[in-house]
Amino acid sequence: MAKILSGKEVSARIKGELKIEAEKLKESGIMPGLAVIIVGDDPASRVYVNNKKKACEEIGIHSEEYALPADTDEAELLALIDRLNGEKSISGILVQLPLPKGIDEEKVINRIDPQKDVDAFHPVNVGKIMVGNYDFVPCTPAGIMELIAESGIDISGKECVVVGRSNIVGKPMSMLLLHQNGTVTVCHSRTKDLKEVTRRADILVVAVGRPNFVTGDMIKEGAVVIDVGINRMADKKLTGDVDFETAEKVASAITPVPGGVGPMTIAMLMKNTLKAAVINKEDN
Ligand code: NDP
Repeated sequence: MAKILSGKEVSARIKGELKIEAEKLKESGIMPGLAVIIVGDDPASRVYVNNKKKACEEIGIHSEEYALPADTDEAELLALIDRLNGEKSISGILVQLPLPKGIDEEKVINRIDPQKDVDAFHPVNVGKIMVGNYDFVPCTPAGIMELIAESGIDISGKECVVVGRSNIVGKPMSMLLLHQNGTVTVCHSRTKDLKEVTRRADILVVAVGRPNFVTGDMIKEGAVVIDVGINRMADKKLTGDVDFETAEKVASAITPVPGGVGPMTIAMLMKNTLKAAVINKEDN
């Protein structure tokens, strides 16, 4: 039976540490603040935004929510970002993705001041991650790195397989693993014989967006399995991209869904917001 890597527990510990850090920052006159922009009424996005606001409250970070209607035009959204870029009380800006059709996501991300880009999606921050000298680490991959550390496995020299190559998860994940000296393979929808590749992995990260996609027979005995997927099923239950039941019999450690990567992502967002508060203060 695999060890369960509980993101819920680890994130609670991290948030406790961040709360103390936030208090210290405030005592020294640095006031962290996060602006969260949500456009439209996607129910999953609404849940994520609520969780982020809740985490800010827990840690003592000032937060502002900007909920815009689905028919908001791009210029209006860009103007809001411009305003928040100049706002001293706001250290981090997050635009909840996906955006409604008709709004150019890339243009929106590019408009956020890289020093306030707590999601680390701006090309400047993406480039810094590539080079290995970065301030902000994208939240989901950063949270996964913490969970892998928790598993006690040293990444150096290990076969790491990432299934999925999105800008949000797969690509930055592969970079972070590479920086820790993993031997990294990135798979995607055109990968031939996926099972042959995933079975080589000592560390397997799955971010595909398909419920129960990776099954136990695709996993090497003793592998660390990180399930990024969040899929809402017809019965409203959340399920991952990994078939937990068969996978946990083979893996040495595995993340559950829910309670695995999800809460870690939010904890890392809080960490980035505190970092942004320090960076922006230094520049003022
Ligand atoms: P995307 O849809 O952007 O990317 C999915 C990736 O999976 C693509 O690279 C795609 O390949 C690949 N893929 C699709 N089908 C296959 C296949 N048959 N074999 C191999 N690869 C395949 O998703 P995201 O990365 O944004 O998200 C992935 C999952 O993670 C989702 O369930 C999402 O909800 C969840 N998520 C969870 C977070 C958390 O905090 N826990 C945060 C972010 C996302 P190709 O590029 O060739 O199309």
